[in-house]
Amino acid sequence: MILRGAPGMVPGPGKEAGPPRLPPCGPWLVQVRLATGLTSEEYVSQKAWRSARLERCPFHPEGGCGLAGHGTYPRVSPPGCLIARWWCPTARTSISLLPDFLCSRLKGTLAEVETVVGAADAAPTREAASERLRPAVELPGVLRWLRRRTRLVHAGLAAVIGLLPELLAGCEPTVTSVRSALGAEVVLVCLRDRAAQHLGHLPPPLGFGPRPLRRRPSPTALQQEAGPDPPAGAR
Ligand SMILES: [Zn+2]
Repeated sequence: MILRGAPGMVPGPGKEAGPPRLPPCGPWLVQVRLATGLTSEEYVSQKAWRSARLERCPFHPEGGCGLAGHGTYPRVSPPGCLIARWWCPTARTSISLLPDFLCSRLKGTLAEVETVVGAADAAPTREAASERLRPAVELPGVLRWLRRRTRLVHAGLAAVIGLLPELLAGCEPTVTSVRSALGAEVVLVCLRDRAAQHLGHLPPPLGFGPRPLRRRPSPTALQQEAGPDPPAGAR
């Protein structure tokens, strides 16, 4: 059996934690939406992964590829939460059915990450938000934790604003602004549904696409950009 890892997954016995060392573009983790309408508590108590069905292979919607159930894997949080997984032998890829309340490629639920980023958006400074959100943890660590979530969620919101102009025209890519536009207190789960057909291109934790590129270029890239000519041997 092939085991593929992902952030938030519990490694099996004897397996290494963390994502596998594959090229970032590789099909190491394909997620599709499981539109449950359930809360995380309901999903776990009803063991809703048992009834989760993948109707069509995302690679072969015409069928005939041998798509088959491939068991489940556990998420670290919420406790007891399993994810249904399918296997396409033609694409040699496993496909997991991620229920709407769960983050993609980030621990926990969308509501949890939204609470954190919403608090950061509303706070006067990131430092103030950090001290309030995780007072027991040292500030540099909390700032990194917070910056990562804020960057990912804001990137997802910016993309959704562009994709759904009729819904979100004039919005800032912040939790505060999108909440106000939708008149809702919880928006990320709602956007899973509203932007359902675009999820494959949206960054996690909202979508199932790749992480956004970092804005800050690497020191090497800066050096190369500084000169008028390409570095020697680059041609
Ligand atoms: Zn297939």
